[in-house]
Amino acid sequence: MDSKQFKEAATSAIDEIVSYYDTIQDRRVVSNVQPGYLKKLLPDGPPQDGEAWADIQKDIESKIMPGLTHWQSPNFMAFFPASSSFPGMLGELYSAAFTAPSFNWICSPAVTELETIVLDWLAKLLNLPDCYLSTSHGGGVIQGSASEAIVCCMVAARDKYLRETTSHLSGIELEDAIAYKRSRMVALGSDAAHSSTQKAAQIAGVRYRSIPVTKETDFALTGVALAEALEQFKAEGLEPFYLTTTLGTTSTCAVDDFESIASILSKYAPPDVPGEIWVHVDGAYAGAALVCPEYHHLTTAFKHFHSFDMNMHKWLLTNFDASCLYVKKRKDLIDALSIMPSYLRNEFSESGLVTDYRDWQIPLGRRFRSLKIWFVLRTYGVKGLQAHIRKTVKLGETFAGLIETRKDLFEIVTGPSFALTVFTIVPKVAGKGEQDRITKDVYETVNKRGEVYITSSVVGGVYVIRVVSANPLAEEKYLRKAFRILVETTEELRDGRVPREESSKGVIVDVKGVGIEKVAALNGNGVAK
Ligand code: PLP
Repeated sequence: MDSKQFKEAATSAIDEIVSYYDTIQDRRVVSNVQPGYLKKLLPDGPPQDGEAWADIQKDIESKIMPGLTHWQSPNFMAFFPASSSFPGMLGELYSAAFTAPSFNWICSPAVTELETIVLDWLAKLLNLPDCYLSTSHGGGVIQGSASEAIVCCMVAARDKYLRETTSHLSGIELEDAIAYKRSRMVALGSDAAHSSTQKAAQIAGVRYRSIPVTKETDFALTGVALAEALEQFKAEGLEPFYLTTTLGTTSTCAVDDFESIASILSKYAPPDVPGEIWVHVDGAYAGAALVCPEYHHLTTAFKHFHSFDMNMHKWLLTNFDASCLYVKKRKDLIDALSIMPSYLRNEFSESGLVTDYRDWQIPLGRRFRSLKIWFVLRTYGVKGLQAHIRKTVKLGETFAGLIETRKDLFEIVTGPSFALTVFTIVPKVAGKGEQDRITKDVYETVNKRGEVYITSSVVGGVYVIRVVSANPLAEEKYLRKAFRILVETTEELRDGRVPREESSKGVIVDVKGVGIEKVAALNGNGVAK
């Protein structure tokens, strides 16, 4: 493909993408192809002779689209959103054009310097304490995911703990002490913390314990619960060295009680004293709300903690991936993750005047991800980002308000909190078993119908449905539609009526023959004619 052909192909691709976004609400939101559908549609190997772009592009609609669940659809109310925006996409386009694994500053100074600048802009916007800025001892780095950020922090915390608590030893005594401590070290999170903390402990080779949280504290971790757990771990001879706290838990968007946690830790494991517990704040989704001053009070205690992470790609209009990790002391991260073989040595790195982000992450190479953040921050401006958060929070309140109007059918468990409402279905015959059963039935039937996509969870032992209104294209009419579908489905299932047959909404259901015909019945935008 030469530059002229690229221009034509790119124009055609952009046209198709724009049309996809303009009509996305008409597509079935969740894919309903069967496992292995694609293998049946593609040849056994690549073509011997190169194909024309027009032929390749055609396969997007006929072969790929049916297997997509449309996360950008306003009917997508599941999980947490994965934001996309046109400025974000343009950032990705330029990043692809400049492709370079810019691990060291000299590999492309702009890649490193823009990242430092935009992450400092963002830190100020999120009201993070100054200690998280690059101008202090801390700084931000873009990771691929909140899970990766937690692995990096846990590894830094592990090494710091071992270094500081064994600094008086040497030789075989040091080796023995490290081996013993490694076998006793435990990473902590609450019951409601995302599973990525447990996974990070698995990777870091340390124990993991979760601290119970209950409805009484709205599923938030408190200092009291932490203190009890720490006493218990001490009695078991374990050595807690790391804790994930959460701003916006996955199931209910609970916010841990940062102030009381900081207060307990100042007594149990005082900051800046060897053996302190590294506290990470996981704001993967709800951290985005900190762009609005009305949430700034949540960051007051962060100065006592060690790291904070939020995904711009969840709720802040930036395409996947853009997980923004901040540490209070960059040295802790670099001490754990830096390695300097001879082939990476260069005068700039050795001068100590530049940042080499390879020392702040697991992989060596890294993409130019700060471009899309820069484009998004500039295109929307602070006011635009705040408007997006406030609009979607308000939509969450509207949806919860609708749910409240049918107390005969629904019971809110938590929220609306950060655009998330969590509720159960009220069974016709009271009883927890019956409640869980009907809630699960409604959830599964709604998703099978594919008009809206929602998620379920188990919270405090209760089966619940989660509806999130934070999608970039969210609008009141779609939430009203989701409410209507929930009411209809609940009434049908409570009355024991067989749910109506699903229409395939013009999208392939099964790719054996029938599906192919359906593709032919789509107009150019993939919408049923
Ligand atoms: N933390 C929280 C609170 C989450 O809700 C999620 C995912 O939804 C994660 C971490 C994991 O995010 P990632 O996919 O960026 O690793």
